[in-house]
Formats: sequence, C-alpha cells, structure tokens
Amino acid sequence: MTAFDYDLFVIGGGSGGVRAGRLAASLGKRVAIAEEYRFGGTCVIRGCVPKKLFVYASQFPEHFEDAAGFGWQVGETSFDWTKLVAAKDREIARLEGLYRRGLENAGAEILETRAELVDAHTVRLVKTGQTVTAERILIATGGAPNPHAALPGHELCISSNEAFDLPELPRSILIAGGGYIAVEFANIFNGLGVDTTLIYRGKEILSRFDEDMRRGLHKAMEEKGIRIICTDVIEDVSKAPAGGLVARTLAGQTLAVDTVMLALGRDPNTQGLGLEAAGVEVTERGAIVVDEYSRSSVAHIFALGDVTDRVQLTPVAIHEAMCFIETEFRNNPTTPDLDLIATAVFSQPEIGTVGLSEEAACKRYPEIEVYRAEFRPMKATLSGRAEKMIMKLIVDSASRKVVGAHVLGHDAGEMAQLLGISLKAGCTKEDFDRTMAVHPTAAEELVTMYQPTYRVRNGERV
Ligand code: NDP
Repeated sequence: MTAFDYDLFVIGGGSGGVRAGRLAASLGKRVAIAEEYRFGGTCVIRGCVPKKLFVYASQFPEHFEDAAGFGWQVGETSFDWTKLVAAKDREIARLEGLYRRGLENAGAEILETRAELVDAHTVRLVKTGQTVTAERILIATGGAPNPHAALPGHELCISSNEAFDLPELPRSILIAGGGYIAVEFANIFNGLGVDTTLIYRGKEILSRFDEDMRRGLHKAMEEKGIRIICTDVIEDVSKAPAGGLVARTLAGQTLAVDTVMLALGRDPNTQGLGLEAAGVEVTERGAIVVDEYSRSSVAHIFALGDVTDRVQLTPVAIHEAMCFIETEFRNNPTTPDLDLIATAVFSQPEIGTVGLSEEAACKRYPEIEVYRAEFRPMKATLSGRAEKMIMKLIVDSASRKVVGAHVLGHDAGEMAQLLGISLKAGCTKEDFDRTMAVHPTAAEELVTMYQPTYRVRNGERV
C-alpha cells in the first residue's frame, strides 16, 4: 500500500486528460480526474466539434443554390440560429456523457471541481477545500483564447468561446486574426448570412501554410463576399451611440459592426494552478516546460496538450497522453512523434495539408520539384459555381520523397488524413505515380501529376 491517495491525479478533463485518466484506470491504477467546467475540453465543448457542426450549417445556402444546376428547385429557405445552437448543445451533451462514462467504466474517480497544486504531491479540491495526495500528477488544463487585454475595448469583443452561444446571430461581424479560428469562423458567419470582415496584421492569411493555399483561399473567401483586410490591426473598439460597435484600425479605417471577435491565438491555462508552490517551471507565456516524455521540472508531475508549448491540436494531446501511459504505467518509454502532422483548416473551401510548404522545402533542400494542379471540381460544372481546387506536391529532387502535400478544395481535410499516411511512410513521387487513380474523383489528381510544374534550385525557380 502506497502512502498516496491516488496513483495518478489528472487535472483537466479535456481530450488529453480524459485519455490518460481512462487508460491509467483501465490498467488498475487508482485514478482521480478533476474538471472545473465540463468533460470533453475545448475540442468537444467549444472547439473542433461544435465548429464542424457550424461549418455544415453554414454550407447549406450554397447547396441550395447549386441544386438548380442539377434540376432541383428548392423552395423558400430560412435559417433559425437558436435551433442550430440547441441542436449543437444536445450533441455536445451526448459526447460529454460518453467521455464521463468512459472514465467511470474504467474505474476513474470523477471530481467536478477545480483542482490546484498545494505542493509537489498534494492537490486541493477547490469546491470542498479538501486536499488529496497522488504519486503522479498530470496537468492537462488546455488553453484559453488570448483576451488581448492591451486592446482598448477588448472587453466589448467576443472570442470563439462566446461565438458558439450568441443569443442571436449578428448582422455583421469583424474578426481579428489570420489563423485557423479567424478563418474558419469568417467562413461560418459568412455562410450563415452575416456581413463578415476579417482583419489580419500580416500580408496574407494563414502564415506558415503554403503560399498557394493562402492566396487561393483568400481569393475564394473574397469571392464568397468576405471582406479581408491585411496589414492592419484594430486599434480600439468602442460602443456606437446608435448600438453596435465601432472598431478603429491602425491604418485609419472605421468599421461599424454588431460584433467584434478576437481570434489572436490561445494561451495556456496555468494561472492560479499552484505551479510555483509545486516547483513546476513555466515559460514566459505561462506554458508548462516539459521534456520529451511530457515530464515537467518536477519528476513526478507531467503535462500534456495545449498547456504545454508544443502543437495545439486535439490528436496531439491524445497521442501525448498515450505516450505518457506507455512510459509511466507500461514500462515502455515512448516519446510523442510530432513529425509530419497532417492538419485541416475547415474554411470554405477547406485546406488539407501535411509536411513542408514550398517555401519551407526550398530552405531545407537544394532542389525541389513542385507538382501543381488547379482545376474546376466536377460538381461545379453543373452547379455553375466559379470555384477552383488547387493540389500541390513538393518533392525533394535528391531523395525523390514527397515532403509536402497541400490541397485546397472540397474534402481536403479527408484527403490530408490519407496523404499523412503516405508521407509518414516516406513515399516517393514514383510511389504516387504507380498508384492507380480512383476515377472520377478530385483526389485522383494527386497520382496523375506526372511532370513537375517547375523546379526550385537554391531558391531560384528553374
Ligand atoms: P493561430 O495561432 O492559428 O492564429 C493566431 C492569429 O492571430 C495569427 O494570424 C496571428 O498572426 C494573429 N495574432 C497573434 N497575436 C496578434 C497580435 N498581437 N496582433 C494581431 N494579430 C495577432 O491561433 P488561433 O487562435 O486561430 O487557434 C489556436 C490554435 O488552435 C491553432 O494554432 C491550432 O493549432 C488550433 N486550432 C486548430 C484547428 C484545426 O485543426 N482545424 C481549428 C482551430 C484551432 P501571425 O500569423 O502573424 O502570427
């Protein structure tokens, strides 16, 4: 019998914490998991899942329009925001139930309370004031939208958290940021009929993505009616006398809108967690410093997911949790493999991507081959919709390996998952070439681009 109340105490019931807690409990460990809000974390409660449901909702107006080209006549349509929010709430309540049941069935103890560290082995349950001890502690408290507190009027703005539950759909919205969240929500609101403007500080949205994807998406979003302002930032936000908000920008524009949403990155949730008392080191941003085994500066305190400074993605947190369990409870030291993470931006059109952008590949390899196709997807021929798909493979000329694959268009996220396997397996361009096409699909383009569109040698296109 150990002197501790638990073998593992998990703080945070999101994707990473729940996976770790469930697996440890199923191995017969004495596990408690504390969550102050709702089980499921950002992904289920106010992130990936509701976002994707809203993306679907926002696509119907285009489906209705496209139907005419295929002989359908769609009658009068209308949209009810409160119905969508309620349907979304029912679905996330169902998923939250699954998360809880998974923990209960594995034998983990669920504690509905905020938990804070008192010292390196002791946790205080804030709801009751009780303290408990654990041999190992796992911090998986995730992140929260950066409130951008230096911006005058930031308290008048919403973040993605509130966007999911607005009492009513605004008529107009200004979204600040050029990352995943800003771009995805700009498309959602626009699709739902909201007059949408995006303002981003850089020259082109989605920094770090392949330039072709960035430009292609920018153009497609503008064609759908989204106004995109680059190289500018909001300077202040104030209430307009007649209602709504006014945002003034650095470049001197005045934008009057119903709602301003800030999507300027997310910060780790570490404030008030008692990390100092326990001796856990954090970065300047407040992220918990961990080694390759997710171990913090205190040997038996671990952290994973968005509360650390690694990659802010649900599957990454889950993977880190599984590696933690292997290492600590299965005697099989395993480090997370964060190389070649396939990812999707659920913009409209979507971006699916894995590996290096053309720009990054040029810096890494003396010569690359770029295979690029831009075409009208089949559905658009009858719908008459002016939209283009872009597909791109980046090949290291020396090894012949495909080192980057990028898709802009319908189902790009689905394609990215499968491209991820190919790149992870180290497939060469010749492997792609000898793969039979699936016809008629858009994805077949990925295996039928036989000739390079161009090469880039030492940074020069040849
Ligand atoms: P991102 O890091 O993607 O984007 C933040 C944006 O805010 C960038 O455009 C950044 O500009 C800009 N920005 C940051 N600070 C400032 C500032 N002080 N002034 C003006 N602009 C600023 O963060 P998000 O909040 O969009 O998303 C958080 C994370 O969540 C993502 O990194 C992603 O990992 C994850 N996520 C994943 C999704 C998916 O997989 N589909 C969906 C949603 C989120 P710059 O680029 O110039 O630095």
